[in-house]
Amino acid sequence: MSIKLLPPELATKIAAGEVVERPVSVIKELVENSLDAGASQVLVEIAEGGVGQLKVVDDGQGIPAAELELAFQRHATSKLENQEQLEAVATLGFRGEALPSIASVSRLTMSSRTPDSLSGHRLELQWGEIVRSGPHGCQMGTTVEAWDLFGNMPARRKFLKSNSAESSRVQELVSRYALAFPHVRFQLSVDGRAVLNTPGNGRTRETLLALYGAEVAGAMLEVHGEDPESGYQVEGFISPPSLHRANRSYMTFFVNHRWIQNRMLSFALRRPTTGYFPTSDIP
Ligand code: ADP
Ligand code: MG
Repeated sequence: MSIKLLPPELATKIAAGEVVERPVSVIKELVENSLDAGASQVLVEIAEGGVGQLKVVDDGQGIPAAELELAFQRHATSKLENQEQLEAVATLGFRGEALPSIASVSRLTMSSRTPDSLSGHRLELQWGEIVRSGPHGCQMGTTVEAWDLFGNMPARRKFLKSNSAESSRVQELVSRYALAFPHVRFQLSVDGRAVLNTPGNGRTRETLLALYGAEVAGAMLEVHGEDPESGYQVEGFISPPSLHRANRSYMTFFVNHRWIQNRMLSFALRRPTTGYFPTSDIP
């Protein structure tokens, strides 16, 4: 066998397999892009488990028309320019892989308008290829809509769970971002039904109330802690024993606004400086 370079489309598709495993991973990447863009409102809509259709709308800073196509090239990012920045990454994403990966496994449109432009611009892609591009009237911010996720990868489709199982993963993810970013208003609708709507007023307890209802939110105990020597701070809510569930799905850990798995908590605490440092108005 001789050694050959992979064709770029195939390389992108392989990379896509790592970035986007299922609908919830697409939503995660898009929501993180919205947060990185300084959005104060993020609206998520999914239909048929997100496989049929998914949409993320934000009111963030938008993308200039001239840069919209660039955003879909691999390793294209506005978040990193040199090695020094790599060591103090201040955003949730920085590898420039998400958009090209998502686009390569779906039919997708992205429309965006920056504050200083009068009209917006819209790009349409099919399985990674740009098929249309032009001016488009839209509100300030960015909207990404994708259909037929993994329609060109039948094997990947088979590995997905039922629509309702995929939808609950999305709901859990959006709830967790809403808790980590209480100053951002999150809305989620599933098959046309509004399932989540947080106030975005910066108050975590009110966010908890919107997400889990009065019983849970009212019973949660607020914790604050600080170790002056190391500078670590811990903040959060814990549930009293009366509310304890049999599983850990009610336990959510964020370190510097990054949602981490329980088993990664100790690792993350040992490396607190590589986290998210908000530049906007996070209280
Ligand atoms: P990364 O987030 O790693 O930079 P992505 O592929 O997710 O890579 O996005 C590429 C670039 O597109 C980002 O660096 C950013 O400049 C721009 N972008 C993507 N989504 C948005 C958004 N919702 N609002 C503003 N800019 C965005
Ligand atoms: Mg990103």
